[in-house]
Amino acid sequence: MRIGAPDQAPSGIAAEVSYFLKAPKMIIGGAAHDGETGRFEVFNPADGSLLAQVPEASEADVDRAVAAARAAMEGPWGEMSGAARTGLMLKLADLIEAQGEELAQLETLENGKSIMMSRLIEVLSSAEYIRYMAGWATKIRGETLDVSIAIPPGTKYTAFTRKEPVGVVAAITPWNFPLNMAVWKIAPALAAGCTVVLKPAEETPLTSLRLAELVREAGFPDGVVNVVTGGGAVGAALVRHPGVSKITFTGSTETGKAIGVQAMKDVKPVTLELGGKAPMVLFDDMDLGLLGPATGIGIFLNTGQTCCAGARLFIQRGIYDEAVATLKGIVSSLPMGPGMDPANQINPLVSAKHQDHVSRAIAQGISDGATPLLDGAAPETGYYVAPQLFEGAGPGSALMQDEVFGPVATITPFDSEDEVIAMANDVRYGLGASLWSRDINRVMRLVPKVQAGTVWINSHNIPDQNMPFGGFKQSGLGREHGSGALDNYLETKSVCVAYS
Ligand code: NAD
Repeated sequence: MRIGAPDQAPSGIAAEVSYFLKAPKMIIGGAAHDGETGRFEVFNPADGSLLAQVPEASEADVDRAVAAARAAMEGPWGEMSGAARTGLMLKLADLIEAQGEELAQLETLENGKSIMMSRLIEVLSSAEYIRYMAGWATKIRGETLDVSIAIPPGTKYTAFTRKEPVGVVAAITPWNFPLNMAVWKIAPALAAGCTVVLKPAEETPLTSLRLAELVREAGFPDGVVNVVTGGGAVGAALVRHPGVSKITFTGSTETGKAIGVQAMKDVKPVTLELGGKAPMVLFDDMDLGLLGPATGIGIFLNTGQTCCAGARLFIQRGIYDEAVATLKGIVSSLPMGPGMDPANQINPLVSAKHQDHVSRAIAQGISDGATPLLDGAAPETGYYVAPQLFEGAGPGSALMQDEVFGPVATITPFDSEDEVIAMANDVRYGLGASLWSRDINRVMRLVPKVQAGTVWINSHNIPDQNMPFGGFKQSGLGREHGSGALDNYLETKSVCVAYS
């Protein structure tokens, strides 16, 4: 079903969506698979109702999926040219768009997010991402190398490097952008010639399962993309599986550390995209007309459930009172309600567990002495938390240091550049940051001082497929996007040729 206009509410749940929800299945070796250990429940965050029952993968299912991925690697997929891989990936992107409305509705149903976000980011930007990565499949190249080997005398040498697919990739994804995060991993892996076993988050497995069906429909050989579903134990079984050659993970810093430890035990390459606590630094000379997008996109996009969300605002003293009054006005008027109505900018959080986590973080902030500025109420049905802004949070407090991952931000005044850079960097994370100013000299002077993988200027929270993305400090290891993303999935082999 063709995707709806971003700002149009669906007239009802599409028939294909209702059909899919009846019995979603894992895809292993190109075949639908029910699993052996029963099913787990997925809920609709908008009202807490049961949405679907999804197979819980066993260790044997993980074994099967890795074996299928390995067999595909050693079979026709391993022999395929880059151009053939490009062709299949372009077909997949077209299918994602062709089934766009179904995927968007599934995403909003399982995650709670705005249907507008589901259409624009989960579907359309995922299709574009696959097309972008498809182009790299025909551009993989090594180098020829001048070497100076002098023995035995009289022998000449030349050397070159080959880039080869690393092998079977274990991809583990979080719940905040379920389809998009899956695509961020699958697309470069396929372009590089790898095969994948994907383990989506247990809260939001549905669009990944549907994606695997579309991979099959696009004509990829069996076993190139497999999806196993379940909780952290399934992810852990995949990470430690000896048949896996590379791990790529997006999720919390705590889980990322555990995965990193296991990867190092097995000496396996690992890419980690982890948590964040991004600063947004608003200088006196900023265009105050940008406070709207700064708030709606920078802080509250996806109801604050983004790794780069501007969770800590620093506002220079000269505009402090005016900016805080404007922010309060904007945030208290953000429409709150189910994601199926695209007018709603604040939607339910992903789960009852996460609603509890965010509510507890707000209560902790108050008991630690921070002042809440808003008194909005959240709907009682569904996993809602009303947005909140805090003043007066102590620099070492949980509210300033720990990821809340919800519609919550702190506001702190500052006077000088040195003072604000020290405060902005005073966290264990370093994923994103933004500087808001009209002064190009100031901005260029400060960019090198900000400890973050991405620094936006007069904008925040918007990644691009061509712009490397990843974290400094405990926000991760490695970069996704851009040509460099492919290197995550390629090994370098040096070939040294002797001749006389
Ligand atoms: P999470 O770490 O709880 O779970 C992420 C995934 O890991 C899930 O699929 C989960 O089942 C799996 N998992 C849990 N324990 C595991 C284990 N021991 N071994 C292997 N897999 C395991 O994270 P979450 O709550 O789903 O996602 C939110 C987090 O993701 C936030 O911290 C957010 O900042 C981060 N995130 C980061 C980026 C980025 O690019 N840096 C993007 C989106 C989200």
